[in-house]
Amino acid sequence: MVRTIELNKRQELILDIVKENGPITGEHIAERLNLTRATLRPDLAILTMAGYLDARPRVGYFYTGKTGAQLLTESLQKLLVKDYQSIPVVVNENVSVYDAIVTMFLEDVGTLFVVDQSSLLVGVLSRKDLLRASIGNQELTALPVNIIMTRMPNITTCKKDDLLIEIANLLIEKQIDALPVVKETDKGFEVTGRITKTNLTRAFLALAEQR
Ligand code: ADP
Repeated sequence: MVRTIELNKRQELILDIVKENGPITGEHIAERLNLTRATLRPDLAILTMAGYLDARPRVGYFYTGKTGAQLLTESLQKLLVKDYQSIPVVVNENVSVYDAIVTMFLEDVGTLFVVDQSSLLVGVLSRKDLLRASIGNQELTALPVNIIMTRMPNITTCKKDDLLIEIANLLIEKQIDALPVVKETDKGFEVTGRITKTNLTRAFLALAEQR
């Protein structure tokens, strides 16, 4: 939704009129600007959508009194995981650390999710987990990832309908880079997505671009 758009001259004028005279009908705003109601319609739609104005049937437009920062916060608090998540990259718990490293490079991700034979989440592998296992270890092809991964129940997960702002909080609080997006079943968690600092940065940019 458009929220923090930059207003044009006419929209600023409309805002001023409504601030001083609201509630005021579209027709009366048009009269004051010597324009037709039809000419004003797109501007009024934008101002309403952006949250600056509210409209009540038969009463007219009134100013919501919300600042740009308030509107930005409101739109931030509406962003959902499902609209910004990426495809998860998973490896089986029996693959070697060597293969996990190769997968991380091939798939170009910083976090791998580890699943069991039933495709249920059992662990997480970060870059540093794999680096740590590699230091001084010659047998990376013989070392299964389930020895070195962070394992359940110590994995922070999220759901697709969670708020993105909650994910931002979790990543900072837990000092991690990514969360698996999961679907809970009777047997455990199925991994359906991946949400990372990159996804959050993208959401941040998307908000800025709405200006
Ligand atoms: P890196 O180790 O590359 O800096 P992270 O900060 O994501 O990456 O990982 C730090 C540690 O936290 C690692 O040991 C990793 O296994 C673990 N970890 C990463 N993501 C999660 C998660 N969602 N839940 C629990 N632990 C995690």
